[in-house]
Amino acid sequence: MRITCPHCGPRDLIEFTVLGEARTRPAVAVEDLDSPAAVDAFAAYVYDRANPAGIHREHWFHGFGCQTWLVVTRDTLNHAVLAVADVREERP
Ligand SMILES: [Zn+2]
Repeated sequence: MRITCPHCGPRDLIEFTVLGEARTRPAVAVEDLDSPAAVDAFAAYVYDRANPAGIHREHWFHGFGCQTWLVVTRDTLNHAVLAVADVREERP
C-alpha cells in the first residue's frame, strides 16, 4: 500500500503509523469530569471504534517523512486510498 503524502508525494506504507479513526475530540473540560455524562462522552471518544467495512477516515503519522499528521480516507475492503490531507487543513 502506498500513501501520497501532500508534502512528500507517494510513499510506502512502512513510513507511516496509523492512529485510528479520525474524529473530533469532545469538548470536555476537566471541571466537567464530575459529570457521568461527560465521562461517558470522553470514554466513548477514547475507546469506541466504528470499524466499518468500507470507507473510513483515519489519522496517520508520517514519521519517516515530514513528521505530519494526516487524514487518510480509504476503503477498508480493498485498502484503496481515496484521499489524503494534512490534518491542519481538516480542522475548522
Ligand atoms: Zn510527508
